[in-house]
Amino acid sequence: LCTKSDEVRLAEEASRKYGSPAPTIFSRVIDKSLPADIIYEDEKCLAFRDITPQAPVHFLVIPRIPIPRISEAKDDDAELLGHLLVVAKNVAKKESLHEGYRVVINDGKHGAQSVYHLHIHVLGGRQMTWPPG
Ligand code: 5GP
Repeated sequence: LCTKSDEVRLAEEASRKYGSPAPTIFSRVIDKSLPADIIYEDEKCLAFRDITPQAPVHFLVIPRIPIPRISEAKDDDAELLGHLLVVAKNVAKKESLHEGYRVVINDGKHGAQSVYHLHIHVLGGRQMTWPPG
């Protein structure tokens, strides 16, 4: 869907905007050098199943450009950030999460973020509780 030269162009644009963030495991999901269960992709993002699911349905939506974390997103990323949420709800529907689901973004140490490539978690298929841990 996305050719190698697209990936190179996206990487160059991202590095102008963010410097060169350290590549993470998700760069390898994007360039397909690491197998992942990808359930949706387009020119801006992809969605794939979490390797350690915390609910019957647990997938991640990530931008192709390596924004390290939500707190480092730029104000002019608004359209991309909106797109990620639209994809999250469309894939949730495709996954039959008709009774609802949870959307989470962990940021930094207090947010317990472990992979520094922005990702939206979507969890569903069971009753969630509040507050989160
Ligand atoms: P965080 O804690 O940063 O919000 O979430 C990172 C998520 O990425 C975790 O839920 C973790 O299970 C998932 N994850 C880490 N490495 C991989 C991987 O190699 N493949 C997939 N599919 N998920 C991963």
